[in-house]
Amino acid sequence: MVRTIISPLVQGLKKTFEKAVSKKITVQYPEEKRDIPERFRGRPRLVLDENGKIKCVVCSLCVAVCPPQAIYIEADEGADPSIRYPKKYIIDLGRCIYCGYCEQVCPKEAIKLSKEYELAQYERSKLIYDLPKLIK
Ligand code: SF4
Ligand code: SF4
Repeated sequence: MVRTIISPLVQGLKKTFEKAVSKKITVQYPEEKRDIPERFRGRPRLVLDENGKIKCVVCSLCVAVCPPQAIYIEADEGADPSIRYPKKYIIDLGRCIYCGYCEQVCPKEAIKLSKEYELAQYERSKLIYDLPKLIK
């Protein structure tokens, strides 16, 4: 009887001791942060060229390919019809699934998935990223 009680107790204490001295696999987030893997896909951002102009030419391929339809674009009706750039470019991060299709399909390398992952908000409306926020 005593043996049936003691044996599991000893096994439990052994496990506890093993875990207490083994290498920690957790970190004290958010003070401490893990290294981000090379292929990690975080928040999409729009890329500027060397002159600080937005690279996007409003071809809308990213809109067409986005599985959750998280991207909305409006082209600027400028004086020169050969130059197109977005008047509105919106990504709803509440819908985005970070698949990276927009980056893969873009012919101008105008959109990239960054390594940013701290995107939690108290209000859903703050997950709607417009041009200024996407350029940041
Ligand atoms: S990463 Fe995927 S889901 Fe997010 S905006 Fe790009 S295509 Fe859409
Ligand atoms: S695929 Fe690239 S160039 Fe075309 S609309 Fe999207 S971001 Fe702009």
